Amino acid sequence: MNKAKLIVANWKMNFFYKQAYNFCKKIISKKKQIKNNFIICPPSSLIFRLSNKFRQINFGAQDCSAVNEFGAYTGDINSKMLKDINCKYTLIGHSERRELYKEDESLISLKILSALKSNIKPILCVGENLNQKRRGDTKKILKYQLNKVLLKKKEFKKVIIAYEPVWAIGTGKTPSIEDISNTILYIKNVLAKKSSIYKNVLVLYGGSVNTNNSKLFLNNINIDGLLVGGASLIFNSFFSMLKHK
Ligand code: PEP
Repeated sequence: MNKAKLIVANWKMNFFYKQAYNFCKKIISKKKQIKNNFIICPPSSLIFRLSNKFRQINFGAQDCSAVNEFGAYTGDINSKMLKDINCKYTLIGHSERRELYKEDESLISLKILSALKSNIKPILCVGENLNQKRRGDTKKILKYQLNKVLLKKKEFKKVIIAYEPVWAIGTGKTPSIEDISNTILYIKNVLAKKSSIYKNVLVLYGGSVNTNNSKLFLNNINIDGLLVGGASLIFNSFFSMLKHK
């Protein structure tokens, strides 16, 4: 029997409460068919009401402040506040945040520390862009992104890594299964070299996952799960991944 995988839904800036409620209600009504673990990352405006209503579902945020205290940080939500609304995970360093909001490794590393301080598990997104891939720099970039933000501190064993090639996000393109599998092995090697605390860290794949390719990815022994954007908004697509064994 295959090991259960972890499927993370990144809803980005989508859904009003009613749509999100109906989606979660449908999941719960079919929970006996679910074979994999899953986390839903709704927009922050929805987390409180959803987590209150659906106690059996694990919710994550899509970002969290680098600052762990209250203060004059307009627009930010910190990890203590996420904890207060029953949020257990947060994405950190998603490529859209890196690109649109110029988040760099020093900010990302503060965000990870801040999440861990409140016992929120960070899902750190890493991945090369198209130019870096064309230059053959994928491994160099990944090593940099990982080494700059991950510390040899035991609380870091709670971090989850999502390998998301930027050129694959929302484009319908993905690396080959061999490339994904090898890159994930490479990430696991970088982590193993860093510290033994990383020996059980999960490494997910994300980027244009859909119902056609998800089975191939989920059947691969090196891929511990999936981070899904667009397809996680379509109930039947997302649910087919939760059911897959
Ligand atoms: C993402 O944004 O994390 C993502 C993987 O998006 P998509 O599945 O739509 O490529």
